Amino acid sequence: MEDCIFCKIINREIPSHVVYEDEDVLAFLDITQVTKGHTLLIPKKHVSDIFEYDQNLAATLFSRIPKIAKAIESSDNLIKGMNIVNNNREVAYQTVFHSHVHLIPRYDKKDDFSMRFGNHMEDYSAAELATLARSIQAHIK
Ligand code: AMP
Ligand code: ZN
Repeated sequence: MEDCIFCKIINREIPSHVVYEDEDVLAFLDITQVTKGHTLLIPKKHVSDIFEYDQNLAATLFSRIPKIAKAIESSDNLIKGMNIVNNNREVAYQTVFHSHVHLIPRYDKKDDFSMRFGNHMEDYSAAELATLARSIQAHIK
């Protein structure tokens, strides 16, 4: 897609440090290196976010994650874990609108990366949760 920075990386119109490529996906170092080895995995097909995937594209992209995660882990014996993050749309902190998965190796709990999950369980009764689950179930296609 024109004016998409990640399509330009795929087409080698702008440089990147590629760590893995096949006919369907590309993985390259994130320019910010939140932690050392921070890598982005993208589909070569331009889709803006998860809501544009079909099952096949998801299978293609997400099936590559373990081998790239293991390669990153093997590349540095100081790596102790990894966060795998996929932001979808602006409200969820997406800034580049060519879908991508972040692989963020973790060296220490004090790495410059954080994710906070609030707990709002007290706001819902069991019946409300059951209704909520049924509502989501009803929309699965
Ligand atoms: P997100 O906020 O989830 O949309 O993440 C977008 C990511 O793309 C950020 O972590 C940026 O650092 C990264 N990024 C933007 N431009 C480039 C680039 N030219 N090469 C590598 N990574 C990039
Ligand atoms: Zn694109």
